[in-house]
Amino acid sequence: MSAPPGRLVLLGHPVAHSLSPTFQNAALRRAGIAVRYEAMDVAPAELARAAARLRAEGWSGNVTVPHKEAFAALCDRRTPIADRVGAVNTFWVDDGMLVGDNTDVGGFEQAVDAAFGAARSWPRVALLGAGGASAAIAAAAERWTGSAVAVWSRNAARAARLADRFGCVKRAESIEDALAGASLVVHATPLGLHEGDAYPVPVAALPSRACVFDLVYARGGTRWVRAARAAGHPADDGLGMLIAQGALAFERWFGMVPDREVMWASVNG
Ligand code: NAP
Repeated sequence: MSAPPGRLVLLGHPVAHSLSPTFQNAALRRAGIAVRYEAMDVAPAELARAAARLRAEGWSGNVTVPHKEAFAALCDRRTPIADRVGAVNTFWVDDGMLVGDNTDVGGFEQAVDAAFGAARSWPRVALLGAGGASAAIAAAAERWTGSAVAVWSRNAARAARLADRFGCVKRAESIEDALAGASLVVHATPLGLHEGDAYPVPVAALPSRACVFDLVYARGGTRWVRAARAAGHPADDGLGMLIAQGALAFERWFGMVPDREVMWASVNG
């Protein structure tokens, strides 16, 4: 186990107004740990230099858009799940080695369990989007028993590459094909981040009784999540996943469980 970190950082470019500093600093205060978690805006061309500095100075932290895949390649060591996803969202320095992990996978699993019940199984998952977050969701789905994922992306080649990497994933021919028979619909594109964005799919096109999980988050749920709920679908946005991946990262850094209620309260206050 590495020494507890003296400095925590969120690497992004541009830092996408993430809530991570808010809830991580709330958890640090509650735990009585005199460390501040700060956002650091790093341009892609500067990432390798930043990683070398973090390694030399023994920092720990998170990595966000758009650096997760590039940062994975800069780590000296990765956990098996980070290797499986091909992306790092959490890192620390151990014995001079930069170690990369991926807590998006566990964060997604925990958030889905919290939203829809841990006892549920998901024989058919529709996955909308085929980027880095979708790889974390595919890695989670392959740990579930008997889950098959149909991925739809506007970029068919990207969806095909995801299907090539994960045996439980197949590329859907159309968005209707992806949705057919799905008990869980997961949205993993940026649609909904901006006011006036179109819905990922019209609510009327969702399979009846399907649960809906939107990785995008907004106070009170994204517009799409609120519309899905109004139509009778169990639905949740990505805030639970964001907090869960952050709580799991905190555990990696400090070897202790943060107070998740304090983390929630800090972003809902
Ligand atoms: P990414 O690697 O950039 O991939 C984005 C995916 O969305 C790609 O398949 C992309 O297709 C597609 N896409 C982009 N704009 C689109 C549009 N206007 N219409 C339809 N498809 C579009 O991003 P990511 O890392 O996977 O993240 C995806 C979303 O999940 C982001 O909104 C991110 O904030 C969110 N996220 C949330 C959490 C959480 O904890 N809640 C964690 C991770 C990510 P192309 O290849 O054609 O561009």
